[in-house]
Amino acid sequence: MKRIAIIGAGISGLSAAYQLEKARAAGAPIEYTIFESSGRVGGSISSEQVEGCLVEAGPDSFLTEKPWAAMLCKELGLVDQIIGSNDAERKTYIVVHGKLVAMPDGLMFMVPTKLVPTALSPLFSWATKIRMARELMHPPRPMQGDETVGELVERHFGAEVVDRLADPLLSGVYGGDANKLSARAVLPRFVEMEEKYGSLSRAMLAAHKKMAATAKSQPARPLFSSLKVGMQQMVDALVARLAPDSIRLRTRIRGVYPHNEGWRLATELAGDVYCDAVVLASPANVAGALLEAVDTDLANALLGVTYSSSVTVALGYYMDQLRHLPPGFGFLIPRSEGTRMLACTFVHNKFPHRAPPDKGLLRCFLGGARDEAVLSLSDDDILGQVRGELKKIVKLNANPIFARVHRWRGAMAQYESGHIARVERIEKCVADMKRLAIAGNAFHGIGVPDCVRSGQQAADKLLGTLADLGSSKS
Ligand SMILES: Cc1cc2nc3c(=O)[nH]c(=O)nc-3n(C[C@H](O)[C@H](O)[C@H](O)COP(=O)(O)OP(=O)(O)OC[C@H]3O[C@@H](n4cnc5c(N)ncnc54)[C@H](O)[C@@H]3O)c2cc1C
Repeated sequence: MKRIAIIGAGISGLSAAYQLEKARAAGAPIEYTIFESSGRVGGSISSEQVEGCLVEAGPDSFLTEKPWAAMLCKELGLVDQIIGSNDAERKTYIVVHGKLVAMPDGLMFMVPTKLVPTALSPLFSWATKIRMARELMHPPRPMQGDETVGELVERHFGAEVVDRLADPLLSGVYGGDANKLSARAVLPRFVEMEEKYGSLSRAMLAAHKKMAATAKSQPARPLFSSLKVGMQQMVDALVARLAPDSIRLRTRIRGVYPHNEGWRLATELAGDVYCDAVVLASPANVAGALLEAVDTDLANALLGVTYSSSVTVALGYYMDQLRHLPPGFGFLIPRSEGTRMLACTFVHNKFPHRAPPDKGLLRCFLGGARDEAVLSLSDDDILGQVRGELKKIVKLNANPIFARVHRWRGAMAQYESGHIARVERIEKCVADMKRLAIAGNAFHGIGVPDCVRSGQQAADKLLGTLADLGSSKS
């Protein structure tokens, strides 16, 4: 019997465990244990019912176009629980000089593809609009090393588009700074488009035409998917499928050391644990610290991944208090506006089943790469800040029926310039170690579907080398 240890019970570690469980149930001679430092499973995923509203403390959904999370949900028997975002209501605003300005029609991510709505939009100055028109002539440019998203977007559309679109959009996804995030890692399609077409607008139009042609033969898919009772449903369904007693909560791993053919894991309070193989599904910088005695190059490369933190604030209201809010999914706030809040989602509009008809739920985001300090404020101070800013921006002065503040310290890996080279270095080191695999949001995508895939691939690697694994000791 080979013993496999998984470090971290977030969605990456749980996905790895489920992959191992399927192999075990099919007769593979393995057993596995997940070691989780906190008192709960799920990592960044946590859903709670409050006053009939579904509060997502972390992720509220996953991108439909990345199939791995939905495929896992189907395998777990959750197919009838998958819901799509209300895309008919999809409208997002950007705060400009304190006021909500709708993102113009035809804006694909941050690239304008329709001239008239862009020309009429108050979101951009005339100088930027002229620049956008000129961008159509941008000549193809061969890929040259790495640059930041800010640099790439500024070269095409100017600094205002970095401030008003690129930065707020990436803040939402990565909690990151457009002037640090790697264009090749975060927007690989943009880099390829620039190489082929030059102009990102022309490339997007071409891609859009292609998509429209195939979409005619297929039913439209929602942009985001989630689960009726929240993302936690996925975590609970995974846990229900795992072998009993396979999860050890409140068991922090302090170090990983080679031992005979396998590994010795030093736990914080429960002594040493011996295993034949290990999946590191903790944040990469934690994995780096754990592996210092194993391989310094690998440890340093992992320690080089930086993380940002975020705070989510959920505020429940009676619908009557929110009648004056505009329709849509919510708004993003550029850094130049000087607020602490980065974004606000109108949750009751984004998904069905998130609030009863008489209630509405707002979810606000703070923190990110530029504001770690917000994590040390008290809940009351954070709530005061958010409510003050909501009052200014959307004239919302009413007392919420409930409020929840969640802090996520070091949860979002930052794909900074040089990220791809770093991941290649990490993967090269790990490839040489048959008994070790890594998973998580630090490598090939930060979203839940990417994490599911990374966990599955880590488990597959170890199952694939199972025949080579030495005997276990304990
Ligand atoms: C606020 C927020 C909103 C997000 N929104 C979305 C979204 O809408 N859609 C989307 O697709 N993605 C979203 N993400 C990103 C996504 O949720 C995460 O990337 C993903 O959940 C990370 O999963 P993970 O298992 O890799 O890591 P984590 O969830 O961080 O899990 C790692 C686990 O390892 C444990 N651990 C750490 N150190 C040790 C140790 N030494 N020993 C044992 N255990 C240890 C931790 O306690 C944790 O449980 C969001 C993230 C956050 C924080």
